[in-house]
Amino acid sequence: MAPRVKSSSAAARRAAEVLKRFDVDAPPVALEGICRAEGIAVCARPFDYVAGVFINDDVFPVIVVNSRERRARQRFTIAHELGHYFLGHRRKSFAEPATDSRQERDAQRFAACLLMPAAWVRQYWRAYKANVENRLSILAALFDVSRAALELRVKELALGGRVREKR
Ligand SMILES: [Zn+2]
Repeated sequence: MAPRVKSSSAAARRAAEVLKRFDVDAPPVALEGICRAEGIAVCARPFDYVAGVFINDDVFPVIVVNSRERRARQRFTIAHELGHYFLGHRRKSFAEPATDSRQERDAQRFAACLLMPAAWVRQYWRAYKANVENRLSILAALFDVSRAALELRVKELALGGRVREKR
């Protein structure tokens, strides 16, 4: 189990370390490879009320995502659970969305930084600046994340330019 990490900037740092450790250097981040290497099984079930469940078992850790949600949402859930895992959160199981807590915020932050590293988002945001009309959609597809998640990240990184798109 990973050592316990506290602050949210530490969550961002840990996400960067994980990408480096697994030689991930371009989007979309291959979560499957990371899970496989860590021995974390991933499966999907049609839940009614939860986005995902993480059984944080020392021997057989399992992430279960909601098969009714879109792939991009499922990926975010997997990245969030990997946050609990790599940040060393000690609970035996997590059901998402969980009640707001420091650990939940840190897992969210880890997930955003794992799937959308600041440097990559900046780089692609600039690269597609001629495509103001649908830059969000292009980048969301490139990073394999939801538009909502990408929009949040772009705002957080204060990248400027027009964020909202006409639908
Ligand atoms: Zn959580």
